[in-house]
Amino acid sequence: MKIIRKAAGMRSFSESERRKGKRIAFVPTMGYLHEGHLSLLRRARKIGDTTVMSIFINPLQFGPGEDFKRYPRAMKRDLMLAKREGCHAVFIPGSGEMYPAGEKTRVEVPGLSDVLCGKTRKGHFVGVTTVVAKLLNAVNPHFLILGRKDVQQAVIIERMVKDLRFAAKVVVCPTVREKGGLALSSRNKYLSEREKSDARVLFRALSLGKRLVRDGEKSARVIKANMKRLIGRYQSIDLEYVSIVHPKSLEEIRTIKGDAIIALAARVRKARLIDNVLARPKR
Ligand code: AMP
Repeated sequence: MKIIRKAAGMRSFSESERRKGKRIAFVPTMGYLHEGHLSLLRRARKIGDTTVMSIFINPLQFGPGEDFKRYPRAMKRDLMLAKREGCHAVFIPGSGEMYPAGEKTRVEVPGLSDVLCGKTRKGHFVGVTTVVAKLLNAVNPHFLILGRKDVQQAVIIERMVKDLRFAAKVVVCPTVREKGGLALSSRNKYLSEREKSDARVLFRALSLGKRLVRDGEKSARVIKANMKRLIGRYQSIDLEYVSIVHPKSLEEIRTIKGDAIIALAARVRKARLIDNVLARPKR
């Protein structure tokens, strides 16, 4: 497995793989790998010939007071896991490589990045789209593999890839969860066992919402009220939002007529957690 630290080195690896007729599948991450990341690597191996993963804790997507400094890191372990999953190259650029002195350009997808998490995390998605654009330029993959756990991020990146005419095909993979339903996240490390157990209510609430939609409830207000009541039983959980949105436009839905995403964000002490499910009315 190759370790590559420079964008130019990444590009030449990618060009040489392309010359051999290999299809490159790319999984961008911030490291501290868990089964969610590994599921993306497995999908990458299935659909491509050459798997590239990046590990870069992107300073631009963290706001002031957010957890950039204490974001968990485990590079040695990550590399061991990537190798075990058959990864061919890991791109680990330093901050100076991605944001050299004097760089200024930002990539923004207005509208989609102002709703849901964008309301409280100002500038977060500009950080995400800017870094993903830079990574795509370095890796030039055939497939860009993302997780549905970060559904807003996936929708925004799909839009950017289309709008900027990147050649990569975006593939979005299902959310991997613990047995109790809690979505795997590097940030779960911030939680004690007790908090983790409390945080399971987030998926229970999403599942309740999904069930209500399936059983014919059309009012987003009623569904959200039921979910909030359930989550409200836990003092340790500070709910930031529950929203029901259109899967592509991310616009708030009031009356549910077709597929909808139920998404939420909550703080459980030091950790800000997000999760979502796709809800479908029975036809
Ligand atoms: P991160 O390292 O948190 O930036 O995540 C890197 C990629 O892994 C993103 O595309 C995430 O959506 C995806 N991912 C994170 N957690 C999960 C999960 N529990 N299930 C599936 N994909 C995930």
